[in-house]
Amino acid sequence: MTFASLGLAPEVLKAVAEQGYEHPTLIQAQAIPVILQGRDVLGAAQTGTGKTAAFTLPILTKIAKHANTSASPARHPIRVLILTPTRELADQVSESVTTYSKYMPLRSHVVFGGMDIKAQIPKLREGVEILVATPGRLLDHIQQKSVNLSQVEILILDEADRMLDMGFILDIRKIFELCTTRKQTLLFSATFAPEIKKLAEDFMHEPEVIEV
Ligand code: AMP
Repeated sequence: MTFASLGLAPEVLKAVAEQGYEHPTLIQAQAIPVILQGRDVLGAAQTGTGKTAAFTLPILTKIAKHANTSASPARHPIRVLILTPTRELADQVSESVTTYSKYMPLRSHVVFGGMDIKAQIPKLREGVEILVATPGRLLDHIQQKSVNLSQVEILILDEADRMLDMGFILDIRKIFELCTTRKQTLLFSATFAPEIKKLAEDFMHEPEVIEV
């Protein structure tokens, strides 16, 4: 199995080749075609399985097809929102997005708590297509009107079980409700507690379950 056979965009394949990855991991081989089809995914996968690339590569491929090269910030609404439980994971995911999108005219950014919120605003105002965020800080930005989720197409929850453990469940439900134009949802979790199953039932559409 090769990455090229999975249907990824040439810009994405070039960045993957530069990383030296030869073959997709199990979760990548299973999740990438399903995500490209536009389906919702419930992924049971631990860190270290290659799950970040499993969702990032197809998402980049999807938005590459409808790239926006306008310089105007107003033409760059947030199209993809990736939620993570911690700043460390947010940083890591954001770095992966930067690495895999290096050949695409795309803006991405990361926001998390513990940093001066005002310092994060100018970059957001420039317009970003992909935002990686922790839930609490994201809601602070929404309240301050520095983030608007009304044009989000794809919502991704990474390590949903840890977000639950950290008490983010109500924040997450609120964020789901703010993404009114969401077309696709991907939820990754190591375990599926009843609250996570309920979240999937309430907000996801016939998700494909992928376990590795
Ligand atoms: P993750 O599970 O997303 O945290 O990824 C774990 C590590 O595997 C990261 O350092 C990735 O750079 C690496 N990785 C992801 N996909 C592949 C692949 N197909 N081949 C080799 N390494 C990979």
